[in-house]
Amino acid sequence: MTDAPAQLEGAPPAAAALVAIVGRPNVGKSSLFNALLGRRSAIVAEESGTTRDRVIAPAEFEGRRFLLADTGGLVPQPESDVQAHIGAQADAAIESADAVILVTDARSGPAYADEHVAQRLRQAGKPVVVAVNKADNPAQELSAFEAASLGLGDPVPVSALHRRGLGELMDALIARAPMDGAPGDLPPDAPRIAIVGRPNVGKSALANAVLGQERSVVSAAAGTTRDALDTPFEFEGAPAVLIDTAGIRRRGAVQPGVEKFSVMRAASAIHRCDVALVVLDAQQPATDQDLHIAGQAADAFKSVLIVVNKWDLIEKDDPRREERRFVYGARARMRFLPGVPVAFVSALDGSGVPAMLRAAFALHEKRMEWVDGARLSRVVMDAVSRHLPPSGSVKGSLKLHRVKQDGVRPPSFTFFVNNTGRVHFSYERYMANTIREEFGFDGAPLKIEFRGKGGVHVIGDNRSKAAARARRKGARARPGERR
Ligand code: GDP
Ligand code: GDP
Repeated sequence: MTDAPAQLEGAPPAAAALVAIVGRPNVGKSSLFNALLGRRSAIVAEESGTTRDRVIAPAEFEGRRFLLADTGGLVPQPESDVQAHIGAQADAAIESADAVILVTDARSGPAYADEHVAQRLRQAGKPVVVAVNKADNPAQELSAFEAASLGLGDPVPVSALHRRGLGELMDALIARAPMDGAPGDLPPDAPRIAIVGRPNVGKSALANAVLGQERSVVSAAAGTTRDALDTPFEFEGAPAVLIDTAGIRRRGAVQPGVEKFSVMRAASAIHRCDVALVVLDAQQPATDQDLHIAGQAADAFKSVLIVVNKWDLIEKDDPRREERRFVYGARARMRFLPGVPVAFVSALDGSGVPAMLRAAFALHEKRMEWVDGARLSRVVMDAVSRHLPPSGSVKGSLKLHRVKQDGVRPPSFTFFVNNTGRVHFSYERYMANTIREEFGFDGAPLKIEFRGKGGVHVIGDNRSKAAARARRKGARARPGERR
């Protein structure tokens, strides 16, 4: 942790670069992905294996924050056609990423599939670093240099298994690709607001409505090849950034086939925002895909505002009652976001858009809030005395010594307990809900950490079942696991 002001602690990276990992099956892409994310191994995930089937995650190297994507896990696993598989990864990377790590295998030397994809990457002019993996010892490191024949500069020998060469790999990447996006001269605590949602819900229309609102677009982030466009704007005198994933399709040149990479675009937008506006279509609200997107935002600890668009198309004798009905329905399906706020808009005629933006700013303000320490202790201790903790995996009673807030953006709390093994899942949720209700953190995922004997235990109180299920479903069948 640096000594940046506390308010900025959890600030999302301003226009963080998206780095895509591509390569043949079995060269070690997902091992490298995990090795590069590595340092958080102290974190005990609630569901074991959650990090394994993740394909996009925020990473950090020497203070530079970026997003890492394992495109091998993003594109469908081929039955036999390695060429098509790696080709689709390259498409994803060329389309959406700022820089690429092409992984090859030191043991087999560069293969035809590597040459083929290298050529495409060269043509696209993306910054690329070749990582020759499985260079577990000096002899294999030497043979790694054969990969210079790929014409993508000096290859970097690495071993994901032994965590060798990772620093060199990152240095090479930074030398080739500017890893820091242009943060602009916005105040660092200005909210970064992302518009996300499945196709056709009206994201572009909404972005236009937001930016047209005050006609004070400062400048579009110039020269960026990034998928999601970051546009600074002002609303009622307050600065903000709009992250718009829809823009890309308007810029032409994108074939229909790449629509499937919208998942990468959405993930990148979500990771870079403070507040996610999850746009639903009033005519078909809360589909599984909507839930999946909202779940991703919740899992990434973003504040969520559900935006019901195309409200103009709904017949309503009694608009208030109709709104209540929608809110009830949406919250019932998004239990992983207790009390999530809902806004009703028509992007076409602009109605509801100012109220939506006010709600988004309010969510961000909450996200930056420090609660009173004494009151926090009182509220939590009261809650404990009302409900004695059920026991967790380790026998014995749980004792809570102290609680404190240790961060914002998202609001983060640490509970000091006698033994973290005694923390039961339902108790974590109970604590989170207590804090949420008492301090009005509706729609704000809270980060809760338990410390004590048994190590550090971090949870989101908001793990969405929908997202977890979808992740499992979408998890790639590993070649070795297919049967
Ligand atoms: P992917 O299909 O490209 O994502 O490859 P995986 O990450 O699943 O790795 C494929 C196999 O290579 C696994 O059995 C890994 O344990 C192994 N592997 C990955 N990295 C290394 C490495 O640095 N050295 C060695 N010896 N094996 C590795
Ligand atoms: P995106 O794919 O999410 O970016 O969706 P678009 O912004 O391209 O909108 C999809 C379609 O919905 C277009 O035909 C829009 O004109 C229409 N649309 C968007 N917002 C509204 C709205 O508020 N009301 C109505 N009636 N139509 C809308």
